[in-house]
Parts: sequence; C-alpha cells; structure tokens
Amino acid sequence: MSDSPVIALAKDLISRQSVTPADAGCQDVMIARLEKLGFRIETMVFEDTTNFWARRGTEAPLFVFAGHTDVVPAGPETQWHTPPFEPTVIDGYLHGRGAADMKGSLACMVVAIERFVADNPDHKGSIALLITSDEEGPFINGTTRVVDTLEARQEKIDMCIVGEPSSTHEVGDVVKNGRRGSITGDLIVKGVQGHVAYPHLADNPVHKAMPALAELSATIWDNGNDYFPPTSFQIANVAAGTGASNVIPGEFHVQFNFRFSTELTVDDIKRKVHSVLDAHGLDYDLIWTFSGHPFLTDEGTLLEAVVSAIEEVNHKRPELLTTGGTSDGRFIARTGAQVVELGPVNATIHKVNECVKIADLEKLTDMYQKVMEKALA
Ligand SMILES: [Zn+2]
Repeated sequence: MSDSPVIALAKDLISRQSVTPADAGCQDVMIARLEKLGFRIETMVFEDTTNFWARRGTEAPLFVFAGHTDVVPAGPETQWHTPPFEPTVIDGYLHGRGAADMKGSLACMVVAIERFVADNPDHKGSIALLITSDEEGPFINGTTRVVDTLEARQEKIDMCIVGEPSSTHEVGDVVKNGRRGSITGDLIVKGVQGHVAYPHLADNPVHKAMPALAELSATIWDNGNDYFPPTSFQIANVAAGTGASNVIPGEFHVQFNFRFSTELTVDDIKRKVHSVLDAHGLDYDLIWTFSGHPFLTDEGTLLEAVVSAIEEVNHKRPELLTTGGTSDGRFIARTGAQVVELGPVNATIHKVNECVKIADLEKLTDMYQKVMEKALA
C-alpha cells in the first residue's frame, strides 16, 4: 500500500536530520508545496536560524499555522528500535525523531491547506504559516523575531494554531488554550567562609538561607483559576561547599523557577520573593531570567472553530488545558492574537523511539481543514 499524502510528507520531513537549529531542507519542501497554492514566501534568516513566513491573501482575518522544523537530538541510537532519521511504520505507528514533535503536524498543516484551498480557492481572509528552526533551542532567533518583523510592519495575526503535540491519549483529546508563564531566579546567598571548628569566625550562608527557602517552598502563591493550575515554585539546583568536610562555605547558590498563572504578574512574584529574603536578613544577589508571560485564549472564533472541528472528527469534546511547558505560542499571543495549540499525542516526544499513530495524523489533517472551513470559508 502506498503512503497517503500526509504520511508521505511526514516521512520526507523526518528523513531530514534537522537537529536544532538545523533545518536540513525541511522548509524548502514545505515552501515548494505552498508556492504552488499561491502563497507569497518570505524566508527570514536570523543568525543560525532559518524561518519562513508564507501568506496567501491580503485581507483580514489572518489565520496562521505555527510550527518548527527542528528536532531534539536522537539520543543513544542503540536504544532506538529503528534508525531515528529513517521513518518507519510499525503496527500503525510512524517512528522517527520528530514524528510527534512536530513534523507530523507540519505535514498535516500542508495537506490540510492543499485540500482547503482546492475546495475554497477564494476563501475569505488570509492563511499564513510561521515556521522556525529554533523552537527546541534557545528560541531567540525564531518565532519571536518573525513576530517582531510582522509587528513592525503592522501585519496583525488574528488567529493562530500551534501544531505542538497537545494531546494525551488520542489526537484532539486535549487542546492547550493557554500556557503558564515562566521565570527563573538565580540566587546567591553570601556568607563568610571558615573552618567548621571555628564557626564563630565564619557565617554559614546555607544555614541562613534554609528558613527562607522553606518559607518560599511552603508559600501558596495563588489558587489558580478556571483555566490555570496554582502557580508553582520549584527549586531546581543548589550548590555550596568546597568539597571538604571541614570548610563552611562562603556562598550558597540556589536556582528556582516559577510556572505562574494569570493570577500573578512578574512584579508580584519578584516583590514577594524579595520580601521573604529580606525578612530573613539575607545578604544576597538575585538575577531573574524571564521566559514568558502566561497567556489565555478563553473565547472567540478560533477556540469555537477548534472545539467544533474536533467534535466533528472525534465525536467528543476536547479538554481545554494550560498545563505543560512553555511554547512559541507565547510570542504570538503577546500580539493579542487568539492562540490555540492542537497537535498529536505527546507521550513519546523527546524520547527514544518517538512515534505517532498514523490514523491520528489523518484525523489531525481533517481537524486542521475543518478549522479553516469554520474560520475562513
Ligand atoms: Zn515542539
């Protein structure tokens, strides 16, 4: 049996070794298909990252599919049952690095657009794709810079589907209609190094910091809301000491991260953390690294279209969740666009033997096509 169009395209993409930030020709494959449909293509290269923006039509509303062609490294190849960059079908599943995250979705987008444009050559509004090759990397030269370029020329995205693997057991059981915010703190608590036998001549920063850290880890930051779980504070790394058992350390490094809901702002978090550290009389430096505001699309044309498209294919309503890590959706949502993430099952992403159910890719193609019909036909 020969492969369906979506599986053939997914295999072509998986066979290209686009370990982040490499693209390995994936975008050219997509571009060639889109050009035939009348898309205007702009390749945007920023430093080591290749991105493209492709648009069909000039009118509003502007409906966008967003995604990435890069993948995480394969990891230990001996643990793969099949070579990671040789797409292989076993028992109804397509195996290979990127099958679920997210070359399968990219294939579904292209084929869904081909079908939609064939049926609706004069669709209303515009369709675009925003594709990057650095989502799995430092995400500096990818989606965020394309969005900056669009904003600078006032090209306004109204609706965006991100093809990240949002589903849990079967495609479309979960869509992400928002994501939590993320911010990391690097804390250095200062003391005075000394001999453990002469503690009066030293000042142990670990001892001083522990009560403050205990208070931070026991704090209820908020109770979440209808769409977001409560904000979470987690200590990720700690380091102190010289390695010798007879030395009181001079400094104590603690790295922590917040995943936060729309109930809190970055300023709320910073203020509260500093007030706890100050209340414990610590001498410290604290450097914050902000990675994204929380976003939420709780109503509107896009969410309605996505929910009803999924219902038509699955005969079941999807669950709307905001859990999971950050995604490039945050860069698009900050422009005010409606953003929903809909993609395949995420059970094997970033693992060895990554795979996606072939039937799910066919269904996802139908879902994407139906969303466009509801939003643009
Ligand atoms: Zn991804």
